[in-house]
Amino acid sequence: MNIHEYQAKLLLAKNGVPAPAGSACTTVGEAVVIAEKLFASGQKQVIVKAQIHAGGRGKGVFKSGLHGGVKLCKTVDDVYRNAKAMFGQMLVTKQTGPEGRRVSRLLIESASAIKRECYLAVLLDRTTSRPVMMVSTEGGMDIEEIAEKTPEKIIRETIDPAIGLMPYQARKLAFSLGFTGDLLHQASKLLQGVYRTWEQNEATLVETNPLCLVEQPDGTVSLVVDAKMSFDDNALFRHPEIRQMRDLAEESPLETEASKFNLNYIKLDGDIACLVNGAGLAMATMDIIVHYGGRPANFLDVGGSASREQVAAGLKIILSGARMQAILVNIFGGIMQCDTIAHGILAAARENSLTCPVVVRLAGTNADLGRKILLESGLPLLSADSLAEAADKAVKAAVSNRSQMAAC
Ligand code: GDP
Ligand code: MN
Repeated sequence: MNIHEYQAKLLLAKNGVPAPAGSACTTVGEAVVIAEKLFASGQKQVIVKAQIHAGGRGKGVFKSGLHGGVKLCKTVDDVYRNAKAMFGQMLVTKQTGPEGRRVSRLLIESASAIKRECYLAVLLDRTTSRPVMMVSTEGGMDIEEIAEKTPEKIIRETIDPAIGLMPYQARKLAFSLGFTGDLLHQASKLLQGVYRTWEQNEATLVETNPLCLVEQPDGTVSLVVDAKMSFDDNALFRHPEIRQMRDLAEESPLETEASKFNLNYIKLDGDIACLVNGAGLAMATMDIIVHYGGRPANFLDVGGSASREQVAAGLKIILSGARMQAILVNIFGGIMQCDTIAHGILAAARENSLTCPVVVRLAGTNADLGRKILLESGLPLLSADSLAEAADKAVKAAVSNRSQMAAC
């Protein structure tokens, strides 16, 4: 699960990580009130930031023609005009895809006089199975590009999860970012706070790009100007306050629908849909579809003990996506009983007309009964005994369905 920039900044603040003053809003009126307060407190400039679950907002373009989802404003009127122009509009960035994301929240913050932009992230390093903190003096830019062109500019510190980020490691990283003297101490504390935020909330990623050296009336400080956080969904049950930060509008509607039924669904770009029980079997099914020359349209794991309703919901979800050329149902009945699957398929087929061939492979508990139910239903289903046979039939059915459609 991902959260918005303003939410990540709130979590970071709980661990003493400083960000510019400001707050989020959902209406132009609220934006104006926040801006008035910031200007009244002596702020010379205020920044208006579109809150969407995608980066690259600064260089993004709204479908309305407005350039930039991050705007510096000198007056309350500026804030009013920018907020009005952003709310409800689609912002397209390098990370959103061409359809863009609708902006329904803005973060109104005091603008910082930035002297230098750095990059900072905490994530899991799969090769060492440990957390790693990565920093770079080349902040504000695309980190992938830095990693590719000048990898020596990214400094890493592997963290022992039992001990956490040691003060000497934090100082080493802060020093490599060019912080010295009093700022070195301040920045190391900031880095430790970022690590604590990552660890406490069981995040998979905390990224602050940029982390800035900022000029203030009373000297310079380091501030988190942009923040991004992602979480391990499997740990969310331990963090109800983070679960509440979920913004369903930012998620794919089909994936949200699937999660309501406790189904693991991920949309892919092929045209052979699959419905499988068990994540491993679902992966194997996708692989074998590719092996036989097809392309899977989704990953869907209905779980080891799905009910008739869950199976029907799963089938409905895969049918409501883009047009499918074939559907492959692959069930290995262990705890799951194949007749439950058969009833689920019938329920979904009754509600939605099946417009493409469905190949069904049932094995294990009550497989014979399941097959009998499907056979007697009169639905145009193709049956298969093995996974290979099922994939082969699904790919062939997709090919002939595609050519039939092209012929009409
Ligand atoms: P992103 O484009 O989605 O990554 O959004 P950011 O929050 O990183 O903003 C993009 C860029 O806008 C930053 O890299 C900064 O250069 C600039 N920016 C953001 N906030 C401020 C600010 O308070 N003051 C100034 N001068 N620039 C800012
Ligand atoms: Mn950024």
